[in-house]
Amino acid sequence: MKLNYREFFMQKMVIVLKPDDVEMSAKEFLSTYASYMDGVGMIGKGPTGYAMYPSRTAPVEEKHVQFFEEWVELTHALGIKSVIGMDLYTDTYFARDPKYITMTATGQKMEHQICPNRPEFWEYGAEVVKEIGSYPIEEILLFGTGFIRDHFCFCDRCRNDFAPLVNQEPNRLTYAYITENPEYHAKWHQWRSEKVHEGLTVLQAAAREADEATEREEPLRLAVEVLLDPETGLSEGGKKEYGYDYAKIGETTGNVLINLFPWSPLLPAKGTSQYTDLVESLYFTNEFTRRGGRASLFRWGVTTLEQVHELKALAKDAGIERIVTTFHYPSDYSRRRESAIGNY
Ligand SMILES: [Zn+2]
Repeated sequence: MKLNYREFFMQKMVIVLKPDDVEMSAKEFLSTYASYMDGVGMIGKGPTGYAMYPSRTAPVEEKHVQFFEEWVELTHALGIKSVIGMDLYTDTYFARDPKYITMTATGQKMEHQICPNRPEFWEYGAEVVKEIGSYPIEEILLFGTGFIRDHFCFCDRCRNDFAPLVNQEPNRLTYAYITENPEYHAKWHQWRSEKVHEGLTVLQAAAREADEATEREEPLRLAVEVLLDPETGLSEGGKKEYGYDYAKIGETTGNVLINLFPWSPLLPAKGTSQYTDLVESLYFTNEFTRRGGRASLFRWGVTTLEQVHELKALAKDAGIERIVTTFHYPSDYSRRRESAIGNY
């Protein structure tokens, strides 16, 4: 894909790049485009689970290490706000481990995502946050922070933890058993959202530790990706489907990254009722900005200026200032989409 990068950087949005997007050295790329950038993003740990930097915790993508270190040093030296992407539960490396993988009630395993009910994995994520936070960067974008959808998770640990709350034997717990009783279903939502939030709290504490370990002037920010799609009921539906609690995210990191329409290719046209619904469902972000936090609109695979203008118009209508994009969809996109909205 040949894109005119200059045109995109001039739009004053944060583009999260992968090392492979930059077909030259970090120095060459940044000396060509730095003057157009206000901030720029780079993947630090992607959905493969591999780190681009010499991690002591995560497996390392050796071929990108030198590039990554040069990139963060140069962006800092040039005064460009550096943003680093980090996948959390979307981690193919850990999902290979049966102790971590998330699964459906019928035992179908999802090879791209691990179960959020894993305190030991929160600690792992916290180490990665501290490692990335040791570089002179401004912000970490945390991707994959929730459950795949309401039908998850039925791993042994989730069964053992949740079944007693609804008077059931762990091995007899089914999705139908939970959803047939509104009280149980509400408990399911509450319990899952608590797990998601406990994980975020551990990562936020790690960010504060990173502040203490470095001479950073501003605290390291953690932006929490939340998926917002009409297939999963926009922002209200997202609470139940993915386990988000926007108020708690506001209190904990004060920073939310709204992944717009991840499962639906087109944004609604201005003037339609779907557009009005979307703008209304973004109102919750006002609370973030009112408290001095940050809200950003994010989209995968933005490769035309028309898409950029469409996003900017929506952001303006929703009172959101910041736009973050990537040029690509995740490499395992079709699997993610199928698991999030397919039939189970
Ligand atoms: Zn689980």
